[in-house]
Amino acid sequence: MDFQLTDEQALVRHSAREYAERSLLPRAAQRDRDGTFPEAELRELAELGMLGVNVDDELGGSGAGSLAYALAMEEIARGDASVAVAVGVTNMVAELIAAYGSDAQRAAHVPRLTGGAYLCGSFALSEPQAGSDPASMQTSAEKTSAGWRITGTKQWISHGDRAGLIVVWAVTNKGAGHRGITAFIVRGGAPGLTVSRGEEKMGLRGSTTVQLSLEGVEVPDDDVLVGPGRGFGLAMAALDGGRIGIAAQALGIARGAFESALRYASEREQFGAPIAQHQAIGGMLADGATSLDAARLLTHRAAWLKGAGRPFSREAAMAKLLATERALRVCDDAIQIHGGYGYTRDFPVERAYRDARAAPIYEGTSQIQRLVIARHLLKAVG
Ligand SMILES: Cc1cc2nc3c(=O)[nH]c(=O)nc-3n(C[C@H](O)[C@H](O)[C@H](O)COP(=O)(O)OP(=O)(O)OC[C@H]3O[C@@H](n4cnc5c(N)ncnc54)[C@H](O)[C@@H]3O)c2cc1C
Repeated sequence: MDFQLTDEQALVRHSAREYAERSLLPRAAQRDRDGTFPEAELRELAELGMLGVNVDDELGGSGAGSLAYALAMEEIARGDASVAVAVGVTNMVAELIAAYGSDAQRAAHVPRLTGGAYLCGSFALSEPQAGSDPASMQTSAEKTSAGWRITGTKQWISHGDRAGLIVVWAVTNKGAGHRGITAFIVRGGAPGLTVSRGEEKMGLRGSTTVQLSLEGVEVPDDDVLVGPGRGFGLAMAALDGGRIGIAAQALGIARGAFESALRYASEREQFGAPIAQHQAIGGMLADGATSLDAARLLTHRAAWLKGAGRPFSREAAMAKLLATERALRVCDDAIQIHGGYGYTRDFPVERAYRDARAAPIYEGTSQIQRLVIARHLLKAVG
């Protein structure tokens, strides 16, 4: 087993870290207060190749692979988790079209996603009544002479109000269950597509989360992403990869909180000594460092398997489960270590806690990750 990063992976990490420290960290608290969408930052990150880290360079990506993507996400999330959400979903959508789209779709859309022309991409699977169980979606698409007409409501769509391209899932064959779902490429601003609600969230306040209404949105046949009825498998494959990104994101948020706690514990004195020297605080720091390493190892294993073209669904679910749940613990301990100051906006740990809280929910809750892992275990015994 080789834990050494390649030169390319190290370069991607360096570039993401340098950008995050220079341009994200200094503005993160203000963005959280104002809820400003990171438009300029996304354009700069596109320039750095961060919107297509695992997308081939001929499609405008960095072609640096899955592990490099996880490294970049950790750094960007450490800088500002709200920015990491947009970076994560855009990478996911770019990879999806690069892997499953037709030649024409790849050529038309992937360079616009990776290069920032679309600003960002969105992934519209969830609905008000269909979250953990997306196969129960109600949004439907009916065949027309020119293509398809989509009608329905999508809920929780990250930056669905900003994206130049949205992948939308809809039922095309009622009664066929998950085999009757199709994925469509929909342009931001398409006639009939409106933002019907914006969520007021506890964290990730620089990332918009919206409800989208589709009222007879017309889509040509050429914008069907995979053959009708094959959309559900596509969503599951995309989420497997996306979970590696969320694990890395949670790791980055937690690392930021942990670093603040470590600094504070070394400086703050009580009972005549830095609080880090009190065993209870040292124990929390030791647990935090161990959690971060465990999360990173699981995340990198899943990313490595994905990059090697090997099955990684179970490993991605494990990485997401552990990294997101441990991130909450690390952020909670970081607040505790800061004492009363941790409960204020003077330190970044309360924001880290609020930002991290979404991670065990989206792209499959922790309960769903456990279902995925258990299913793999049971399959293995027969
Ligand atoms: C900030 C944010 C951004 C998001 N961005 C997107 C996005 O860009 N695109 C998108 O499509 N979606 C997005 N989502 C939606 C997200 O993926 C869903 O919220 C998530 O899948 C859970 O669905 P739900 O909220 O409907 O909860 P529900 O599915 O109603 O679940 C409620 C509770 O029941 C539990 N539960 C459900 N089924 C089971 C079961 N079988 N066994 C055990 N427990 C179960 C869940 O774990 C949870 O605790 C986002 C959500 C948030 C909060």
